[in-house]
Amino acid sequence: MQYNIKQKVMLNIILFGPPGSGKGTQSENLIEKYGLNHISTGDILRAEIKNETELGKEAKGYIDAGKLVPDETVINMLAKKVDEGLGNNAKGFIFDGFPRTIPQAEALDDMMETKNLEIDCLLALEVGKEELVKRILNRGKTSGRSDDTDEGIIQQRVEEYENKTAPIADYYGKQGKLKTIKGEGSIEDTFDLLCDAIKQGVSSN
Ligand code: ATP
Ligand code: MG
Repeated sequence: MQYNIKQKVMLNIILFGPPGSGKGTQSENLIEKYGLNHISTGDILRAEIKNETELGKEAKGYIDAGKLVPDETVINMLAKKVDEGLGNNAKGFIFDGFPRTIPQAEALDDMMETKNLEIDCLLALEVGKEELVKRILNRGKTSGRSDDTDEGIIQQRVEEYENKTAPIADYYGKQGKLKTIKGEGSIEDTFDLLCDAIKQGVSSN
């Protein structure tokens, strides 16, 4: 008889939300508290652009236009990072900015399955559109990010989010893994809400 017991020693979280909702900021806090690997597809792509790699050259046009990079490109990129992360002693993963489409979510679930791992929860930060645009324009003053300075491009990013990314919340909701968090409070308050949600998510599994 074959048993199919999932390894439950890891904590694997998706930090989800529209552009400017605070995923990067909160990831920093969460990886420190829980000892997790941080996988940010946005950060990886920006590093590739900086290093002028083939991947970076391909991604730049999409990013500068406020569009999503093609699924196949980011999925391949991610698998490599997960393998690297499994080689260190981290206690799990925090996925920041991935998945951003349903095919990416399906690919992530498949990939985790083959490694006998599982996503524990999707933490969805909720922030209104006006606040998002305000935050990103403000970040653009110092971030050096070409996609943070033009309001039209920011609107395009929010639109991509609404059309292609938002449905992922439902996808994980159907698996009983969705936790929504109010993301308009202070960084500290939002962090506390995220930690509470993680506690609940892990104990209910
Ligand atoms: P936040 O402000 O919440 O940290 P963000 O949306 O401002 O998030 P990133 O996650 O850094 O920024 O993404 C920047 C850009 O990189 C996206 O607009 C998109 O072009 C590209 N990108 C990042 N992750 C993906 C992905 N999983 N699929 C497709 N494109 C991606
Ligand atoms: Mg980010």
